[in-house]
Amino acid sequence: MQNRHVRQSGREKVPGQYHVLLFEQDDEFAQTLKLDIEQTLPVEVATVSALDEARTLLAENPDKFFLSVTSVVHLDSDSFERIDMLAEFNIPAIVIVDQYEDELRDQLIKRHVIDYVVKDTRSDTTYICDLIARAIKNLTIKVLVVDDSKVAQFVIERELSLQKFEVLQVGSGIEALSIIEQYADIRLVLVDYQMKTIDGVTFVKKARELYPKDEMSIIGISTSADPRLAVKFLKAGANDFIAKPFNYEMMLCRINQNLDMLDAVDYAKHLSNVDFLSNVFNRRYFFDRGNKIFGALAEDDVLTVMMMDIDFFKNVNDVYGHDAGDEVIKDIATKLQEHFQDDIVARMGGEEFAVLSLNPEYYTSFEHIQRFRELVAKEVVEVKGKEIKYTCSIGVSNIRGNDLDEMMVHADRLLYKAKQGGRNRIEGNPSGAKQKKLTRSV
Ligand code: GH3
Ligand code: MG
Ligand code: MG
Repeated sequence: MQNRHVRQSGREKVPGQYHVLLFEQDDEFAQTLKLDIEQTLPVEVATVSALDEARTLLAENPDKFFLSVTSVVHLDSDSFERIDMLAEFNIPAIVIVDQYEDELRDQLIKRHVIDYVVKDTRSDTTYICDLIARAIKNLTIKVLVVDDSKVAQFVIERELSLQKFEVLQVGSGIEALSIIEQYADIRLVLVDYQMKTIDGVTFVKKARELYPKDEMSIIGISTSADPRLAVKFLKAGANDFIAKPFNYEMMLCRINQNLDMLDAVDYAKHLSNVDFLSNVFNRRYFFDRGNKIFGALAEDDVLTVMMMDIDFFKNVNDVYGHDAGDEVIKDIATKLQEHFQDDIVARMGGEEFAVLSLNPEYYTSFEHIQRFRELVAKEVVEVKGKEIKYTCSIGVSNIRGNDLDEMMVHADRLLYKAKQGGRNRIEGNPSGAKQKKLTRSV
């Protein structure tokens, strides 16, 4: 459960990174909720129970609080005062209600709260944590609103900002195309149909030449009552359609659903590209990306292929057990990723790894690779109280072959030579050095 929130937030858990104001009279519930939120999210919770107390805290710390959780709101009480006070300080609220009532819901929606939660099940805190996690995640999600009506732009922007999205706005399809070209990380576009220059459907067709449906979600919007318009949008490549005037909650549900779909696709892509044990790329990804990189090489680019293999790994398994062997595989993968940060690191199988690099320094020196070998040989891995030492051998080729396979075969041959030569060593020479030698000897 804890990990789920952290993964959803899409960032490392840093305690107290965000501040949440919890407005709650029930002390026991406040403590439970505070604990749950702080344990699962990078959030620090401040609790208050009275209006004056909250007002003073907010006045003294105007930019501190990211959002607030407010409980319990009844229709017949003065608890709306609290929500209005939070709005004064520009703090979006998640509201806990005793029970669902249409009238209460309408009052809350009118006040632009993030969402409301009915306090009737044990899953209350999970739902609240999920909402906070989503708001944190939304901070990094860019949404583009394309509408030639300033009023529509304002209304949509206000609702999206409440949910903490990063909102960009433009008034025409042409501008929108240039924006999505400029910002490849826009995840969602909300586009109106009727606009000058190009209409929403034409925008969708052109946008789809740049980004497929599973990379950028597009939702068409229109006041037209004609149901054929929704079909036109969807057939042009939109992911969804919403009719205006929209129900605010419905719009949010559709947005969240579309974003969740993109996340699910990303996660599936991640699973198919990454090795489950070592968490570095797998062989398939290495060749897919590697062949593309090879195909796009400029004449004076330096491409380097390293093949490395743990020495006497069978002994590690025999002496310490297969599980310990797995830990050693994870250890070298972590070290590789840290040492070759800008490069593609992949597990080719067993205890064999490959690194593909465009670093030009390898034209003249393999020193960085030597340092990796030394680091592996020097350090000790602790597995279940046992200290394991291991070494690795590396074959390095940066002599451009006809294709990536040829360079891999060359690097593999050099790796074999390193094994034959006694292990814990590197074979191969920087191609620049070799050329220099050749020139001198001529
Ligand atoms: P060399 O120095 O010549 O590379 O010797 P080596 O013992 O490392 O090489 P060898 O190829 O003889 O043995 C590799 C061993 O790695 C055999 C295999 O059982 C083990 N192995 C392969 N995949 C895994 C894995 O995922 N986990 C563990 N623990 N062992 C694995
Ligand atoms: Mg080996
Ligand atoms: Mg091997």
